[in-house]
Amino acid sequence: MADSTVSISVGQARRDAHKLLAGSETAQLDADLLLGHTLGITRTQLLTHPERRIAGETHVEFAALLARRSQGEPIAYLLGHKEFYGIDLRVTPAVLVPRGDTEVLIDTALARMNHAPRLVLDLGTGSGAVALALADQRRDWRVIATDTSADALIVALENCLRHDEIGMQLRLVQARWTNCFANACVDAIVSNPPYVRRDDAASHALRFEPAGALFAGDDGLEDIRFIISDAPRVLRPGGWLLLEHGSDQGSNLRFLMAEAGFDMIETLRDLAGHERVTAGQLPLQMFVRRTQ
Ligand code: GLN
Repeated sequence: MADSTVSISVGQARRDAHKLLAGSETAQLDADLLLGHTLGITRTQLLTHPERRIAGETHVEFAALLARRSQGEPIAYLLGHKEFYGIDLRVTPAVLVPRGDTEVLIDTALARMNHAPRLVLDLGTGSGAVALALADQRRDWRVIATDTSADALIVALENCLRHDEIGMQLRLVQARWTNCFANACVDAIVSNPPYVRRDDAASHALRFEPAGALFAGDDGLEDIRFIISDAPRVLRPGGWLLLEHGSDQGSNLRFLMAEAGFDMIETLRDLAGHERVTAGQLPLQMFVRRTQ
């Protein structure tokens, strides 16, 4: 237990922290990020000045962060921020920690849609990661970013203000999926919706993140099913739907999109080689099938 009356050196604090986090593959990196964060200095400064003294109170603060990390709390929540697609985002337990896997969603959206001015809907925006990344890459696009959680929207708003030049391209709306949107009002819908099965064995590792952003019924497809079935109403003809999903859900997504009338359906893989994003396009002309 850290003692607020005793000061120790940076070198000693790093060694102690490494030992405490020994179970984790990223023990030294995590320890350094947390120590640098507590002291307000860079990792390089930590490494080049091991003799620097840490005041007792600061050491207590560092020890508290280490204790939380050793319980498995994501480092992004402890630091309060995380980088996504080159953008530094504020992150709190009200939102999912942005993941590298989700960058496939951005890559796919950019590759599928041309540069013409676009209106894009980002459903379940959380920190605003997807919406801000798209706005950053395409300065002539407008993005409506939704979430049901007011707490999440506050974080998204903070991120819009933090990056105000691209934040200007966003509008934040409290809404459940496509419910409050008019017919044929947007050119594309992108989303990283909840897709984890309620009983998923991996759910323990996700226990610090908001359940509402992760879990979607017994098969993890509850929200995806709703989004796919309502998307053809909200999209303009020729509009794109791009959804992130679980690595074993690709065939379900392709089936559901085909059933809803989408063309050009394709599933893309993440860096680990897992199916991660499925995209589809509404035909330019929707023929109404007439029954005799
Ligand atoms: N990719 C997350 C995971 O770790 C799930 C994110 C989501 O449900 N949208 O499983």
